[in-house]
Amino acid sequence: MSCIFCKIAEAEIPAKVVYEDDTVLAFLDIKPINPGHVLVIPKDHAESLAEISPEHLKCVAAAGRKVAEALRQALSSKCEGVNLFLADGKAAGQEVGHIHLHVIPRYPGDGFGLKFPTHYGNIPQDETDAVHKKLRSLLED
Ligand SMILES: [Zn+2]
Repeated sequence: MSCIFCKIAEAEIPAKVVYEDDTVLAFLDIKPINPGHVLVIPKDHAESLAEISPEHLKCVAAAGRKVAEALRQALSSKCEGVNLFLADGKAAGQEVGHIHLHVIPRYPGDGFGLKFPTHYGNIPQDETDAVHKKLRSLLED
């Protein structure tokens, strides 16, 4: 198997693990946005939100919350916020094909953030309404 996160989950590649249970593994990102930047992965390979089981996704989210709480304690007053970030697909910024949740400690003025597009605030109402209608129809049952 060539997936780097599967290799980390199997301990074939070393990682600075901070949390582990039967379902998930959490370890320090090797290229952190800030010190303490952690990735939470399901141990079973799943590339995307479509592939991961709802149960495993719950475990990833729960571990992400635990890590966020621990980061606030570990970094005390330096860590004034935490971002949970999951990129599903290349267009969303996913760089490894094994689903992972970023847990990123944030500091005032750390220079990281989401960049808003030029059309932000100017999306035509009919486009928004069309998406709303489709989503309602797909999600109701
Ligand atoms: Zn994998």
